[in-house]
Amino acid sequence: MSQYNPFETAQAQFDKVAEMLNLAVATRKLLRNTAREFHFNIPVAMDNGEVDVFRGFRVLHNDARGPGKGGIRFHPQETIDTVRALAMWMTWKCAVVDIPLGGGKGGVICDPHNLSPREQERLCRGWVRQMAKHVGPLSDVPAPDVMTSAQHMLWMLDEYETIHGAKYPGFITGKPIGMGGSLGRTEATGYGVVFVIREALKDMDIRPEDTTASVQGFGNVAQYAIQLYTQMGGKVIAVSCWDQPDSKAYTYKKNEGVNLDELLPITDHFGSINKDKARELGYEQLPAEAWIEQDVDILIPAALENEINQESIQKVKPRVKIIAEGANGPTTIEADEIIQKQGIFMIPDFLANAGGVTCSYFEQVQSNMNYYWEKDDVLGRLDNKMTSAFIAVYDLAKKKKLYMRDAAYVIAIDRVASACKNRGWV
Ligand code: GLU
Repeated sequence: MSQYNPFETAQAQFDKVAEMLNLAVATRKLLRNTAREFHFNIPVAMDNGEVDVFRGFRVLHNDARGPGKGGIRFHPQETIDTVRALAMWMTWKCAVVDIPLGGGKGGVICDPHNLSPREQERLCRGWVRQMAKHVGPLSDVPAPDVMTSAQHMLWMLDEYETIHGAKYPGFITGKPIGMGGSLGRTEATGYGVVFVIREALKDMDIRPEDTTASVQGFGNVAQYAIQLYTQMGGKVIAVSCWDQPDSKAYTYKKNEGVNLDELLPITDHFGSINKDKARELGYEQLPAEAWIEQDVDILIPAALENEINQESIQKVKPRVKIIAEGANGPTTIEADEIIQKQGIFMIPDFLANAGGVTCSYFEQVQSNMNYYWEKDDVLGRLDNKMTSAFIAVYDLAKKKKLYMRDAAYVIAIDRVASACKNRGWV
């Protein structure tokens, strides 16, 4: 990926706010590290008759406020430090939106583009076989993330229930609709990003229909963020995405606005747009980094970590007013300092993209009751949660003259530190 280590970024962000909050040494020690980690081999019978062995991880950062919660990523460049950082960010994410869950994350080093559906199924079942004793509805609850889908979740659930000999629909979230999934879960992360953008624009007295945006990534988060933002009247002029056969990314630009209806039919399950077809549809094909140098009001990084760094930040145009982090950890510490100095309004990852886990929490509640809500009900509750979390963070930022990321951290760390203290851990 790059020379940046996301776990060091997550720890540096924590240390800064731990200092501001004057946290006790033991609390800092507890929270700047993960509670436990699993590293394991997953042997998979491949379609060609051979066995391949994949490396899997599950990290629990903290469960003082409730069971661990967080996705499982499939990625060829997955590392334990990335998973550690993502687990830590999940703890803050659940705390900032005030849902009773802790932070965890999992991963497998693999490229699912190169695995058949059967091989992917065996990999999912293999992951669960290794972790079945250590995850569960009351201990640690997985979900989808980069390159994992509702189908992967269902295979994992099926394996878990087979091992334990009973139905545990609350074991995992992001399940398919009709199989324990919640209506609105697929849309939730992307929509949540747009709910908080809407609130930020309201405060700036800018109408969404007078704004433009550029988006990095074209997976689940990006697609639904574009959908809702466009419905609100905004115009996305560029999206970037990974191209599989070329093994590199491109930005696709259309000044009149990218059109989801024409792009989705030419996009694969993993969010790669077919570049030849995109060109036929009149999209200009630009280098990967071009998404960040667009003359727009809003930037939405919704791909991977460390994409806004010391080099790429130099390309951001003065017109940019808001950066809403759909991805986890897209901004490095150095770039974040520049953004803060330039006065760009930052909506930090663990607030901006908390819609996914908030809806996962709703899904668990529904699964445990075995009673499913209407879509409008789910999305209405999601909007309330995201909006009130945004307002709480923004109010604190204004009151204490804090950078938005720091204000979000103050709220989240304070909640988690109090839970640890009240339990008598520190
Ligand atoms: N993977 C998503 C995230 O990073 C969702 C996690 C969940 O639903 O548990 O927030």
